[in-house]
Amino acid sequence: MSTENISDQLFNNSVKILTDLIAFKTISGEDNSSLINYCDEILKKLGATSFKTFDNEKKRVNLFATLKAKYPSEKKPIILSGHTDVVPVSKGWSTDPFIATIKSNKLFGRGACDMKGFIACTLAFAPVYSKANLDRDIHFSYTFDEETACIGAPILIEELKKRGVKDGICIIGEPTNMKIIDAHKGCYEYTTYFEGLAGHSSTPHKGVSAVEYASRYVNKLIELREKLKERTPKDSIFDPPHSTLSIGGIFGGIAHNVIADKCHVNWETRPVVKEDGVFLNAELDKYANEVLLPDMKKVFPHSSIVKKIIGEVTGFDRDKKSNACELVSNLTGDNSREVVSFGTEAGLFQEIGISTVVCGPGSIEQAHKIDEFIVLDELKKCLNLLDGIKEQSISN
Ligand SMILES: [Zn+2]
Repeated sequence: MSTENISDQLFNNSVKILTDLIAFKTISGEDNSSLINYCDEILKKLGATSFKTFDNEKKRVNLFATLKAKYPSEKKPIILSGHTDVVPVSKGWSTDPFIATIKSNKLFGRGACDMKGFIACTLAFAPVYSKANLDRDIHFSYTFDEETACIGAPILIEELKKRGVKDGICIIGEPTNMKIIDAHKGCYEYTTYFEGLAGHSSTPHKGVSAVEYASRYVNKLIELREKLKERTPKDSIFDPPHSTLSIGGIFGGIAHNVIADKCHVNWETRPVVKEDGVFLNAELDKYANEVLLPDMKKVFPHSSIVKKIIGEVTGFDRDKKSNACELVSNLTGDNSREVVSFGTEAGLFQEIGISTVVCGPGSIEQAHKIDEFIVLDELKKCLNLLDGIKEQSISN
């Protein structure tokens, strides 16, 4: 992809904005409102309209801003989408992770590639869109808490549904080195809590061992894992081709001679199709409620099994005739399609009928790591894509 159309001013502005964005410590779960207000102000000055959606405490915010078409046409609106949260930093950084630092054509900082680089490019390019004779709306979607199982985006999606936004082309700028990603598995995480009755180990019949019931539950999960393999879709594009399931941990018990009254199991599944997630949960819940729980209650009526959803990141399905992929391919000249193993917000947009592609600057190799960086040239490539979108969004 060439980068010659991009002026120094645009590029420098994207670096400046990225520097500002990195300085906001928007670690997942924390208040991101200052960053959101910063973005909102830039876009409002350019004439954008916007709305915000919030978490229950109104601490974390999604922003959805729109530069309206001057000459409305049949063209589908474009949504440029990024998450504003970053993963926590561990010790060992060579520079301050919240002060952008440029060294040998790389910009270092937490979120540089995942994914404030993309957000910076969209904000730097927004003035060009606002001056252009747009014949379709350009939306800017900035969400909170993607890294913790996409907590923010579903709240935004609900609001989009209410507002009747259910058509369009969405580009999720996760770091893909500007390659087109058009599918990934879902990622569902759960913790299941078991509560029984404590007692002396010499009289097991007088207690309800939460650890033992949790073990039976885990066995059921392993049994269902085999069923998931049997359900492998014929033309699966994933590796492994079937939905996976994994037990992350079992926690319970205090001593050899004490019946454990509490135990919990952390587990996750990565469904290749949504139906696998539904199947798995239905079978598992049935086993827990119809087999394990009645057994536990015979001894102790207050026994319980509670499955808590930590997060359910919807899978992103390949669409052979994807408007979003075609648009990006036409602009970058790259017709390849890849699948990735990480989850994104793509499936959520796709679910409401918006054609979606994951494509953005920087490499996932540097994401979530110490000394995260983005190669500066990647910002230019991204600005170039945004320039191509402008060309496709003005009436000739
Ligand atoms: Zn990300």
